[in-house]
Amino acid sequence: MNLEQKKEKLEEIRKELLKAKKAPLYSYRTENNYLPVPGEGKANAKIVVVGEAPGKNEAVTGLPFCGQTGKILDDLFEGIALDRKSVFVTSIVKDRPQKNRDPTKEEIAWYAPYLDRQIEIIAPKVVVALGRFSMEYLFDRYGVETEGKTISQLHGSVHEGKVGDQKIKIVALYHPSASIYNQKLKSVIKEDFSVLKQFI
Ligand code: URA
Repeated sequence: MNLEQKKEKLEEIRKELLKAKKAPLYSYRTENNYLPVPGEGKANAKIVVVGEAPGKNEAVTGLPFCGQTGKILDDLFEGIALDRKSVFVTSIVKDRPQKNRDPTKEEIAWYAPYLDRQIEIIAPKVVVALGRFSMEYLFDRYGVETEGKTISQLHGSVHEGKVGDQKIKIVALYHPSASIYNQKLKSVIKEDFSVLKQFI
């Protein structure tokens, strides 16, 4: 697929999400004049970054990671001289859950096929899972076996994943918002992020 075709396919996903009346968070979205947040970035990026679910700023603008957590993510990118425009940033769940609660299993299952398609279209070398929800989903999808280890054991690690013919590396990182609630994690998250330097 060439770049134009990739852009078109990603745009199709955005349009589908806009009219996805069956989406579990569709009525909450429309009642609040929110937008779905499909993701943003380079259609042929080498790195796809996957968060959890949009927050309020993201749902108002339709853009991923543009609020407080987005600022932290931007600083992390800057810390390793990675241009945010060169990657694709998205989340598993494409609509804001009420009051920023954790996404449910059902919501993850419903929205994940959109993420799967985005990864298939973009065909990155590396997918970065931010936080346990995206880590668990991506490890499961790409057949990464971790013997029940949690994000607090796996943060900063790189794994080989595969689905069909698509081979990718999956990097598990803490979600950047973790440092808002736990200041001690700030330096850990910064340190972990440097694992991405090898892929720039
Ligand atoms: N957190 C996420 O996981 N995704 C966003 O887009 C914003 C905050």
